[in-house]
Parts: sequence; structure tokens; C-alpha cells
Amino acid sequence: MTAFCSNRTVTVIIDKAFSGIKAMNTMQINVSQLLKEGIGSVRDYEISGTIDTTDSGGSSPIRGEVRLMRTSRSILVKGKLYVTIDATCSRCLKTFDCPLTLDIEEEFFPVLDASSGTPLPLPDEPSSFSIDEHQVLDLSEAARQYAILAIPMKPLCRNDCPGMQLNS
Ligand SMILES: [Zn+2]
Repeated sequence: MTAFCSNRTVTVIIDKAFSGIKAMNTMQINVSQLLKEGIGSVRDYEISGTIDTTDSGGSSPIRGEVRLMRTSRSILVKGKLYVTIDATCSRCLKTFDCPLTLDIEEEFFPVLDASSGTPLPLPDEPSSFSIDEHQVLDLSEAARQYAILAIPMKPLCRNDCPGMQLNS
């Protein structure tokens, strides 16, 4: 994908198509229009919402900026997301707010052709993300997976955490 993005023609299209950032109070973006546009067309979004990294109904606030680019077979999402999760300090066992920065780069594949409505075959990659039949691209699951990977193995509430205090 690096070769695709550094392609000179594509860069020119990005500059022309750039029309400001759209702010969304959701992780779900309707991409029906973008899917009908030419390869290299882009949209920029400011998104915010919540994700659950605990599998127990927890919700962590997340926000950030993403750029969506139409490719020949998909929509490529690139951007930076900021999420704050509840972590447990590995030394003192207190819970604390742990901010994480997620560098997202992920392809989303439409299940239906945007113009004709006919079903499209999904790619072989088993972990690929799809755009649903209403042409809605949902970033929640991708963001959740990135966040889980970004959680430190041994979180510390602060670098010099003294650990458990065993006084009376
Ligand atoms: Zn601590």
C-alpha cells in the first residue's frame, strides 16, 4: 500500500478533493458517496465515540482524525485515534486512566457494490473489515482491536510508582 500512497497522481487528487474535516459524534461513517467516486478520492473526518476494550461492557472514550481513501477494491482508513482506558497498575494495583495513541491503517471492504447493489466477494484475508450493506463503515471494532494491542503488558500509574504501601 505504500507504493499506492506515494503515487504522484493520487497525491494531486487528494489536494483537489480536500474540502475540510467533517466532525462526527460517532465511529460510524456512511461511505456510499465515496464508494461511487474515483480511485484516490478522499474524505477527512474527526470522529469520537466509545469503545469497549474489556469485553465486560466497559466504555472508553475515543476520538481522533481519520482520512478515508477510495481504492480499487476498498476504502483505506488512515489516522490517529486517542483513547483513554481504565488500567490497573502492575505495582500498586490501583486503577488509573491510561491514555493510548492508536495509529490506524486498515482497509474496509464493501459487501455490496455501491452503484448496482450486487454482492461483492470479500477478500481472502480472514481479519479484514467490511462495510455493511447500508454502506456504513464502522471503526469501532478496528479501534477496539488496535487499542487492545496497544495496552501495555505491565501498566504503571506513573513511572516511579513505589508499589503497594504496606503500612497499617
Ligand atoms: Zn502504581
